Amino acid sequence: MDKANRKIGALMKKGQEIAKGLGHRGHLLKGSMVRYYNVCGKKDCRCKKGKKHGPYLYVSVYEGKKTRLIYVPRGMESKVREWVGNVRELHKRVSEISRLNVGVLRRMQKRG
Ligand SMILES: [Zn+2]
Repeated sequence: MDKANRKIGALMKKGQEIAKGLGHRGHLLKGSMVRYYNVCGKKDCRCKKGKKHGPYLYVSVYEGKKTRLIYVPRGMESKVREWVGNVRELHKRVSEISRLNVGVLRRMQKRG
């Protein structure tokens, strides 16, 4: 095997190793965490005088061409944060594998 072939082999192997880790990411949630203060429906509430309720945690998700805010219950904050983080990590790995494979194709072209 020549040097160029070895390099291509190494790139592909690296991509495969990253891909192996993709299956161990746990739960995924594609969205971003946001905090909002709310105004309630009560007539004489403090929130009407500028002291809004909250902050409440939401996860903003893209659903059917629309962005929706889903309320995150208090006890779920760290879990949802983890799920959202898992997607970010997954994207990072997919980008890395993609970059490696672009490198493989470029090296093949050079050799004609
Ligand atoms: Zn209120």
